[in-house]
Amino acid sequence: MSVEKAVHEAPFAGTVRSPISENDKMVTGNWRMIRPVVDTEKCTQCLTCWLSCPDSCITPTEDFVEHNYKYCKGCGICIRVCTVGAVVGVPELEFEDNPTGKEA
Ligand code: SF4
Ligand code: SF4
Repeated sequence: MSVEKAVHEAPFAGTVRSPISENDKMVTGNWRMIRPVVDTEKCTQCLTCWLSCPDSCITPTEDFVEHNYKYCKGCGICIRVCTVGAVVGVPELEFEDNPTGKEA
């Protein structure tokens, strides 16, 4: 059984509310080493990654999904569960806005 099929056939067990506010004094994404990046052309918006993220860092948009990098830890679960390979892990130091302030 595919991951996508399993997710859709799983019984509904409850609702976890999305965070309603962000605390800037508790930003936890700054230890991330790998940044998940969505290929918006590949994303089918199946929402498997949204269901799987342990930190509720993924938000569905109209056509794909967005990551909240202030809280994403880079655990890689969203990369592993995406059945169409729409999420790739890019080393954090490749980004100028990486939260460590270090240069690649
Ligand atoms: S990134 Fe992958 S797992 Fe997430 S919604 Fe898009 S297709 Fe589904
Ligand atoms: S890498 Fe982990 S914490 Fe970050 S969005 Fe993906 S599943 Fe969530």
